[in-house]
Amino acid sequence: MKKTVLKKYARQIVRVGANVQKGQEVILMAGLDQPEFVALVVEECYRAGAKRVRVDWDYQPLTKLAARWQKEKDLSFTKDWEKARLQDMVDNLPARIWLDSEDPDGLRGIHPRFFKAMQARRKVSKPYRDAIENKHQWCIAAVPGEAWAKKLYPALSRHQAVEQLWKDILFTSRADGEDPMADWEAHDADLKARSAYLNDLRLRSLHYQSANGTDFTIGLIPGGRFLAGSDTTLSGVRYSPNIPTEEVFTTPDRRTAEGIVFATKPLSFQGQLIENFSIRFHEGRAVEWKAEKGQEVLDQIVTMDEQSHYLGECALVPKNSPISESGILFFNTLFDENAACHLALGMGFNECVIGYENMSDEELFEKGVNDSINHTDFMIGSEDLSIDGVTEDGRTVPLFRDGTWAF
Ligand code: ZN
Repeated sequence: MKKTVLKKYARQIVRVGANVQKGQEVILMAGLDQPEFVALVVEECYRAGAKRVRVDWDYQPLTKLAARWQKEKDLSFTKDWEKARLQDMVDNLPARIWLDSEDPDGLRGIHPRFFKAMQARRKVSKPYRDAIENKHQWCIAAVPGEAWAKKLYPALSRHQAVEQLWKDILFTSRADGEDPMADWEAHDADLKARSAYLNDLRLRSLHYQSANGTDFTIGLIPGGRFLAGSDTTLSGVRYSPNIPTEEVFTTPDRRTAEGIVFATKPLSFQGQLIENFSIRFHEGRAVEWKAEKGQEVLDQIVTMDEQSHYLGECALVPKNSPISESGILFFNTLFDENAACHLALGMGFNECVIGYENMSDEELFEKGVNDSINHTDFMIGSEDLSIDGVTEDGRTVPLFRDGTWAF
């Protein structure tokens, strides 16, 4: 890919994605796939005034080796220096950028103790993650890795596959135009207008129906709201956590899900694929889940902890988003979740409740916001999906018809 194009993309990630501030520290996570691009991003961070940029490199084969050779208690154990690093993040509130290039199959066959160890580690890191929530900017964007590109384009050479995936990433991230930053701002304004419309309706519940069998109702939290696009930290710094993003989302009342939903796309979870699955809910809780392929992985997701049986997110995405229209299954949640309406099992979003910054975690939980170590999106949007909203005063309003916005 041309360096001029990549420089603009790096700028989009640093300036409107993470919106790195003068004097701020930056932590960048990246695979080994695009070191030159990582350097472009780091340079852009310094140009934005970053006082220090740390890059944490990730290489999936090392994760597999650790899972294979370490004892579960060692793999699960968070060392003091690791805690110190988490504490340093809480103290310094760095901007965090993740350049995702992972091979969707990279962790296939990993020893199962890895998942248990992850749970144990997440329990330790959760208080730190809670302490920085909404206080710092973060951004996930994608760059092509060779294995990922070859999975999407097995018939192309390695080089051609990577080039094609660059094109796909830049197109769906609205980063391939003359002025990506301006295109991004226009897109953000459209998403903001849609979420404002939904919020003005004062919806109390959503009803989903599709010919594939989905028939599902979920309650929304009084005083809750839909969010979309850019986010703002409590100190007032605007940033775009996901590049790309197409979703307008909220956090539902976790106690209210009723009925059955059918997934419309495979779910790629830590390198493993779950296909053709459905989940039935009663009083908010997943009571039955079945997958034609990947049942054990689905079991792991749903039962990660008790609250993982409940929903934390409802997101609306029209079928005519660039990602959906590209027709590509990326095997990557950042893209695939923006191709279709989805739900997420696990953790909800406090910021979807107005005034959340003055409420305790207990109050938010009492209002219905789910809390879990898990947050896993799965797609339920279909060609014919219809969604009705029921308002506070009992009116039924069409929100989605034939898989796209009804307003
Ligand atoms: Zn989402």
